[in-house]
Amino acid sequence: MREFFYFCQYLFSLMKNLLDTPVEFLKGVGPVKAEVLRKECQIFTFEDLLHFFPFRYIDRSKFYQIRDIRSDEVYIQLKGRIKNLRQIGEGRSARLVADFVDATGIMQLVWFKGIRWLKTMFKPDVVYIVYGKPSYFKGSYNMVHPEVDAEEELKKIDSGVLFPVYHSTEKCKSKNLDSRNIQKLLRNLLPQVMDVIPENLPRSLLRKYRLISRKDAYTMIHFPSSPAALHQARRRLKFEELFLIQLELIRRRLVRRNNIKGFVFRKIGEKFNTFFYQNLPFELTNAQKKVVKEIRADLGSGKQMNRLLQGDVGSGKTLVALMSMLIAVDNGYQAAMMAPTEILATQHYKSLLGFLEGVGLRIALLTGSTKKSERKELDTALRSGELDILVGTHALIEDTVVFANLGLVVIDEQHRFGVAQRAKFWKKNSTPPHILVMTATPIPRTLAMTLYGDLDISVIDELPPGRKPVKTIHYYEKDRLRLLGFLKRTIQAGNQVYIVYPLIEESEKLDLVNLMEGYEAISRYFPLPEYQISILHGKMDAKRKEFEMRRFVRGETQIMVSTTVIEVGVDVPNASVMVIENAERFGLSQLHQLRGRVGRGADQSYCVLMSSYKLSNEAKLRLQTMVETNDGFKIAEVDLRLRGPGDMQGTQQSGVLDFKIANIIKDEKVLKYARQEALALLEKDPMLEQEENAPLRRYLISQKSKGIDWSRIS
Ligand code: ADP
Ligand code: MG
Repeated sequence: MREFFYFCQYLFSLMKNLLDTPVEFLKGVGPVKAEVLRKECQIFTFEDLLHFFPFRYIDRSKFYQIRDIRSDEVYIQLKGRIKNLRQIGEGRSARLVADFVDATGIMQLVWFKGIRWLKTMFKPDVVYIVYGKPSYFKGSYNMVHPEVDAEEELKKIDSGVLFPVYHSTEKCKSKNLDSRNIQKLLRNLLPQVMDVIPENLPRSLLRKYRLISRKDAYTMIHFPSSPAALHQARRRLKFEELFLIQLELIRRRLVRRNNIKGFVFRKIGEKFNTFFYQNLPFELTNAQKKVVKEIRADLGSGKQMNRLLQGDVGSGKTLVALMSMLIAVDNGYQAAMMAPTEILATQHYKSLLGFLEGVGLRIALLTGSTKKSERKELDTALRSGELDILVGTHALIEDTVVFANLGLVVIDEQHRFGVAQRAKFWKKNSTPPHILVMTATPIPRTLAMTLYGDLDISVIDELPPGRKPVKTIHYYEKDRLRLLGFLKRTIQAGNQVYIVYPLIEESEKLDLVNLMEGYEAISRYFPLPEYQISILHGKMDAKRKEFEMRRFVRGETQIMVSTTVIEVGVDVPNASVMVIENAERFGLSQLHQLRGRVGRGADQSYCVLMSSYKLSNEAKLRLQTMVETNDGFKIAEVDLRLRGPGDMQGTQQSGVLDFKIANIIKDEKVLKYARQEALALLEKDPMLEQEENAPLRRYLISQKSKGIDWSRIS
């Protein structure tokens, strides 16, 4: 049987790339382990295993002495003997305790699981090496669930001083695939594939950045001979990863620029001018002017526009969107504007209606709750081209929505939509419409380069004049009376206030209860008929929401109690206080969005963050950041640092951020160089035809499965 496997493996190697060989043909794997590797670790082939990098390393060269332990922050390694193994307690509360003794002292080792098995494991006169994180408990250090190896055993596995640790799940472990076994597999794999790991970076780049070869990098990352070697391996692989992603993103942009024709909107016509000279109630900010110019240039260029418009909350993006849409309409095309929620779509629709009074074009709203009869009429007008602008929710991307000639699409608050949804608009025409993506969640530059590396970027970096920065205060429960007094004075002065409660799916029921209790408490303090209160949450039907929102917008209610459904886009300039309950439960970008709902009028506005006393360090930092700054970009940087890119809104679906080794926060510099080099390379050699780039071309072609098609660049 075994021979048969190896024979198969041999056949595979002849037929195609050895790296594509299914992992079960590796010595030491076999069908059962292969199944676990596939299911638990997504390792299907030799190459996948090769790419399964250790997530940390144990420094086997350094031993601590028990008496020198001062901190419970770091993992350490100790050498000594295990004495006095004993079980304490029974059943669920049972634990296994041992004294670990070296020349300098004694430390307790503690296990809560696997007691029965562990009990038989340790021999009194064997020297053990334990590895783990000390914890401080009742005046001394102990170690819970350390890794323990006999010194002799470790010596047998000769792997230099840095010992790789691989992610392994319970299932893996039960099938004999713990970190150590995975390491053994790699030891089998590496010599076999060593000669078929192709270099993929041009030699000039390797030289310029002093990068080690790909082959060496793979060897060193799995079996580092020294910390310096490991560093070189990681540096090389990070560069490669970021470089290849940037190459692909930039290439996509080039393809679009060079190959994809866009509608040409040459003229600024009557409707634009009517709006601009008769309806526009204020002067555009310089930033708005600059961005409109950039968009105009795109629209007139004959290439399809794919532009990201970033601007902090309240910077006036809607107006820019409107002007872009008017250019489309003036040139005989339809425009669409998509928003993430019904409330927001409705609000956009209404404010556009206001701005467009007397301009003489037809605009409609389409959401999930548009009535059938209305929908029919709307469809007809849309297909005949009578309808100029359609505003709506993601109902717009349904296949049943057919435009006569869709020329431009605005997508507001992009972070709620995935990249896939953006792409759906492409299919609505044979020529793809121009696309303007707007986001109020400022995206740190590094993230933008990766997430939106295929888009052109415009930034509105200026707020309309006369805005007073919102003052932010952090209150605890003891300050509640003060808060209520403050709200009362605000309302008596004629302003309105928001009170927002968290609502997340996992604790939805409890959150709703909190919201209703808060609403009742507020109603008691601000009784009818003097005070009117709106309430808004996702569980209400659309009509009811609409009704409550309208009352608040019109100033008929002074207080809006709600969940984060009002997070984006709602614009009530008379509202001057935003109270956020349980503020510690919100993420930074959400807090910033919510705060952006106030400070839109002439009055000094306030944001009050209510929190409990018990705050995690992270929560403290979030609230403190909010108190200290109004700058959306600064907040986004802190957010990215705190949460990591994977958790940023909108990044989950994108897939661009599934890095194997790079980290766009820590590796910002590498990213910068990688992008710079990718740009330079594609400018010089867009088809990768030069001899020097042949390895890269070969490599990319071999990665066809990723859907990269190098034939499209002209
Ligand atoms: P956001 O960028 O958050 O979408 P909006 O487009 O909703 O911001 O604009 C916020 C408010 O500022 C709106 O009431 C809008 O009418 C107003 N506004 C926009 N541009 C200007 C300007 N140049 N001068 C004064 N007010 C403006
Ligand atoms: Mg907006």
